[in-house]
Amino acid sequence: MPNMVGGCLCGGVRYEVGAEPELTALCHCGDCQKQTSSAFSILVAVPREGLWVWGESLASYESLGASGRPVVRQFCSACGSPVLSYVAMTPDLIWLKAGTLDDRSWLRPQMNVWCDSAQPWVLMDRAIPGFAKNPPIGVGSGGDEELA
Ligand SMILES: [Zn+2]
Ligand SMILES: [Zn+2]
Repeated sequence: MPNMVGGCLCGGVRYEVGAEPELTALCHCGDCQKQTSSAFSILVAVPREGLWVWGESLASYESLGASGRPVVRQFCSACGSPVLSYVAMTPDLIWLKAGTLDDRSWLRPQMNVWCDSAQPWVLMDRAIPGFAKNPPIGVGSGGDEELA
């Protein structure tokens, strides 16, 4: 299991994951571009019960995803780093903003999502799947609902 401890830029928010990550994805949606001020988010999905978060500066912003269900983005109110998201469509998972991991050397993106809104200069790895919008929930488990 990778060493999954991390935190925001100022260190006011820290977290630790005690479970295997389920998925690493690059999200090119417009909201991720806005929130991160970058071309995409690096997201690692982890089981909700396997995550511990500390920090009084943790703040939340809630908006609606493409499905019309809430997406709660948590960030450090002191330094502004996006830290994690709760997505109503995937209630058992938390989506870590993986740039906040202390050790990012093990990250291997397994899919690109929201490719329709990707910046045209982003070079995508064609060896991994790319989805125009959200992938089917439970890729590989036959789900057909969409993520938020
Ligand atoms: Zn901070
Ligand atoms: Zn996104």
